[in-house]
Amino acid sequence: MRKKIVAGNWKMNNTLDETKKLIKELKKEIKGVKLKGKRVLIAPTFVNLQPAVKKIKKSKIEVIAQNMHQAKNGAFTGEISADMLTDIGVKTVIIGHSERREYFGETDAILAEKVDAALSNNLEVVFCFGEKWEDRKAGNHFKVIEAQLKNALFHLEAGSFKNIILAYEPVWAIGTGQTASADQAQEMHAFIRSLIEKKYNNETADAISILYGGSVKPNNAEEIFSKPDVDGGLIGGASLKAKDFTAIIKAI
Ligand code: PEP
Repeated sequence: MRKKIVAGNWKMNNTLDETKKLIKELKKEIKGVKLKGKRVLIAPTFVNLQPAVKKIKKSKIEVIAQNMHQAKNGAFTGEISADMLTDIGVKTVIIGHSERREYFGETDAILAEKVDAALSNNLEVVFCFGEKWEDRKAGNHFKVIEAQLKNALFHLEAGSFKNIILAYEPVWAIGTGQTASADQAQEMHAFIRSLIEKKYNNETADAISILYGGSVKPNNAEEIFSKPDVDGGLIGGASLKAKDFTAIIKAI
């Protein structure tokens, strides 16, 4: 049975004190919430990862990274390697977020290298992808999604998908308050699963968790998560408030 997952992407928010405070509040809020078969992930910024890893000890929360560089080490000023993440106890990394693609020029080819580097260092990957509004308006959204998956992931062996979580995030829904409808999410998630089944097999397609991301809030989470191919969410803005994030966790 695939796991239900709620992941909070904190982006470039929260100082060290704010990080510790938010984790403390979150631990308090989720106490007593049934999390069997479910995972709760949070992605603080790089400098706060290690203190966050310490803070979540003895809780069900997992600390994950927002990004990493594809090279093992070397002259890449300002970058962080897979080794550096595993060394401080991080086991999962987000790769391919639309903000990385848009503002930092991360292409499918670069993302394929990042995925390979993460997996070969035993990091689990939350792989983000999604179409822009103009793609959807033109009716090209399925084509765009298929190309993104093909270019960055479909060189992998079926077995690698055990360590991949997919996050479908339509760019037009991220941080805009304009969420995809539950039916639009389900339609795309079913399509993604069918692509994996076609390329690999039914077992791989059935086992992979596919999260939806894009303006998920306490008031729409339940409806979106009720869809059979939506296995949870990647949450931006609403993950910065312990009460809102917990309400979303409760909705899976
Ligand atoms: C995100 O950045 O991955 C995201 C889904 O953001 P928001 O929930 O704020 O739309």
